[in-house]
Amino acid sequence: MKKDSKEKIRKQIKKGTIYRTKKYRDWRTRVFKRDRFKCQLCEKVGGYIEAHHIKLKSVFPELTFLSTNGITLCGKCHKSIHQEDEGHKRYVRKFMKLARENKPRPTLRRKRRTRRLK
Ligand SMILES: [Zn+2]
Ligand SMILES: [Zn+2]
Repeated sequence: MKKDSKEKIRKQIKKGTIYRTKKYRDWRTRVFKRDRFKCQLCEKVGGYIEAHHIKLKSVFPELTFLSTNGITLCGKCHKSIHQEDEGHKRYVRKFMKLARENKPRPTLRRKRRTRRLK
């Protein structure tokens, strides 16, 4: 896959067009799937979820499309960690650990027991 330049990503972030790119959507989907669509803070499953950049994409544009730099949060938790300035920083370590540990399971060993969330 061709890597977008840091500058290009930075521009897209600034203009807000990044959210419309396929790359961004693919990244978000990878993060959601890996985290089983579960908020990694309050552990709520389903409902409205967002993907948070563990290391802010505005500071580290080169990490924007790395799934290990993303974490699934519900809207409420996501909002709360961004509420205070630099508030997200307190969670960097915790989220990075989770992002590493939440590996997609190889194949379904158990019967599918949960509804698929789209
Ligand atoms: Zn939550
Ligand atoms: Zn965020």
